[in-house]
Amino acid sequence: MELQARSKIHQQKSFLSATRLIDNCCNAVSRMAVKAGGYECQGLREQGYQLGGICFISAMATQRSSAAEITLPPFLSDLKTGNTRLIYTSTERPDITKTPIPKWSLINKKHYSSMNIQYSRGCPYNCEFCDIVVLNGNRPRTKDEKQILAELESLYQYGWRAGVFVVDDNFIGNKQKLKEEILPAIIGWMQKRKYPFTLLTETSINLADDEELMRLMVDAGFDTVFIGLESPNEESLVECDKSQNKKRDLIADVKKYRTVAFRCRVVLSLVLTATHHQSLRAR
Ligand code: SF4
Repeated sequence: MELQARSKIHQQKSFLSATRLIDNCCNAVSRMAVKAGGYECQGLREQGYQLGGICFISAMATQRSSAAEITLPPFLSDLKTGNTRLIYTSTERPDITKTPIPKWSLINKKHYSSMNIQYSRGCPYNCEFCDIVVLNGNRPRTKDEKQILAELESLYQYGWRAGVFVVDDNFIGNKQKLKEEILPAIIGWMQKRKYPFTLLTETSINLADDEELMRLMVDAGFDTVFIGLESPNEESLVECDKSQNKKRDLIADVKKYRTVAFRCRVVLSLVLTATHHQSLRAR
């Protein structure tokens, strides 16, 4: 079981660390372009770019609704000509069916315990503390069967034989496509190669309601799922809009995962809402 604290305070702290880091880089290496990325840098935009001049800010950091697939190509092209702008931004969400396969040969696989691929972005839920929906939206955008198999094959050809983390926001955002297209294709691919990878991913709690989906995932080679339980306190779940976890027997749900042979890593974010905080103080 993992304990993880997530809150808006955390985001503010990350932003402060990001500005400090950029400031230090700028002081240490004058005339060097410093590029910052990540959601934590969002606040840089509102700070009026005091760090500008030698500070380059790009990627999804500075726009709430885009990603490097859109902002990186113009930046790289400007870099070639020495005409970089301060901000690269877009309101578009990238079409992930066009995302290229990573060039695995650029890394040394001995330094990794697991590799990452991604099948979808976005999550249909709206948990108050989570930045996923702001970054990637509520409508899950998915890759197609051919793309996923090509990514698995590229890892296989690279010689990888261990864990592969499917780093989706919520893997089961589009259950029908998973059941009818993606999982049967992965099962066929894995069987043909005698299961060279073990897969893990993140899903919402309602995976426990769909035994067919759980069994297909196990058949496809998934052995672990991360689930955000957040809090056993109903009032806290209401307060942080974790509606999908309300009125459920969370322990029974975790047991269901185990009966279909999943190891289940539970994230208890201990969402410290006002209600929860008061009840803890009262003890
Ligand atoms: S279910 Fe998970 S990914 Fe979706 S909004 Fe909630 S915390 Fe974020």
